[in-house]
Amino acid sequence: MAVCPVDCFYKTDEGVVLHDKDLCIGCGYCFYACPFGAPQFPQAGAFGLRGKMDKCTYCAGGPEENNSAEEFRKYGRNRLAEGKLPACAEMCSTKALLAGDAEVITKIYKTRVVTRGKGEEIWGWSMAYGGSGKLADQPGGRA
Ligand code: SF4
Ligand code: SF4
Repeated sequence: MAVCPVDCFYKTDEGVVLHDKDLCIGCGYCFYACPFGAPQFPQAGAFGLRGKMDKCTYCAGGPEENNSAEEFRKYGRNRLAEGKLPACAEMCSTKALLAGDAEVITKIYKTRVVTRGKGEEIWGWSMAYGGSGKLADQPGGRA
């Protein structure tokens, strides 16, 4: 958000970060700055086009009036304003995608991790690479 030279990004009362396509000048800074790859140039064919940046709206529309034709044309359906979940979260058959209050979602994911038997070892060297995690046990490692 901080890299945008024309201050396109804003946060809704629900904490959703949105982007104003009318302000965007397509400079691409956010494309390179976002660690999640959220901003994307519009796609058409094999190669992306330059133009106004696009991003996931969390199905929360844009700065126009909720559920107006103009909002739909630029940002697609505003499902949150309709009292619904984002489409991808609602349709995900395995419930890998969840949406809602961050604290509730965090608890659900933590519960999943614990009940799948990984406990405290879910993160860290041994989970990623196997072994004890000690340097001496790594290939080429020294005691
Ligand atoms: S591409 Fe648009 S939203 Fe992204 S930093 Fe540039 S002006 Fe801002
Ligand atoms: S369906 Fe999912 S990925 Fe697509 S805009 Fe809605 S929240 Fe974002």
